[in-house]
Amino acid sequence: MGAAFKDVTPARDPLGTLAETLWRPMGVEGVYGRTGAYEAIVEKLAVFISRQRDPRAEVMRFPPVMSRGDLEKNGYLKSFPNLLGCVCALHGSEADIRAAAAWAEQGGDWTQALSSADLVLTPAACYPIYPIAAARGPAPRGGYAFDVAADCFRHEPSQDIDRLQSFRMREYVCIGSADEVSAFRERWIERAKGMADELGLPYSVAPASDPFFGRTGQMMAVAQIQQALKFELLIPVRAEDSPTACMSFNYHRDHFGVTWGLRDHAGAVAHTGCIAFGMDRLAVALFRTHGVHPAQWPARVKEALKL
Ligand code: 5GP
Ligand code: ZN
Repeated sequence: MGAAFKDVTPARDPLGTLAETLWRPMGVEGVYGRTGAYEAIVEKLAVFISRQRDPRAEVMRFPPVMSRGDLEKNGYLKSFPNLLGCVCALHGSEADIRAAAAWAEQGGDWTQALSSADLVLTPAACYPIYPIAAARGPAPRGGYAFDVAADCFRHEPSQDIDRLQSFRMREYVCIGSADEVSAFRERWIERAKGMADELGLPYSVAPASDPFFGRTGQMMAVAQIQQALKFELLIPVRAEDSPTACMSFNYHRDHFGVTWGLRDHAGAVAHTGCIAFGMDRLAVALFRTHGVHPAQWPARVKEALKL
């Protein structure tokens, strides 16, 4: 476990006073403008995470949108159809588009004229890397190592400080044999605990499941826990008795390998795994634990973040 958790007086406002200090409302739940003070910590955190990177890892940064076809092929709609955001636009002739815009001017529901584009909002940072890796051929011995990040979207409006619709995700990804991916994940669970210690964050690591949709989803979640496919590093952010997943350690087995034809060094279907860092949750956890003035944070936390 990490350091002792310093309690902060709960506010009546479900977002508490922390959100008022770090963010500015943008009129939609779970979507915020970020203050300079908040962003400075997110940037320092990103550098801190980069320092832990496997020297072999290749860096890729993805936009907040990705191919709709690729995400469908990954099976996202089977697991999380409720969370997906799809980009829509006004298609058609100039007259069609003008008519829709004019409709809006008259207070009409112009969105009825929208149709989907070939883009979805990226729901996790690692999805775009699998087809890119597959196009390169079999992974080398030790596996492919990637450092990826994206602005992610999940359609789950909430007033909770730890549940955003739009948030930043950083991931380390391993593509290789089952043994290589298992070793990668084990190594990273230990390394992540050390990182939380350095940041003075109280934590626990626990088996977890993804929020699969619906009743069949519940069965998938049970199977995921039974097979120990997901662990989370939890930190008290919103409530001490209900800590928040700030990092996750995921083993996908051969799901992406089969989908994209990925191969390991021996030519077998590759397994994959990813370590996800929730940049916004980690930044909020730092402010929640150490207070709203980084200058007053413990010396070793400031040293770790090079503040
Ligand atoms: P996962 O793919 O494991 O659900 O998410 C990976 C990481 O992204 C989580 O451990 C968490 O840190 C971050 N994350 C997931 N959902 C949210 C959310 O609703 N809000 C915020 N701020 N971060 C999230
Ligand atoms: Zn991932």
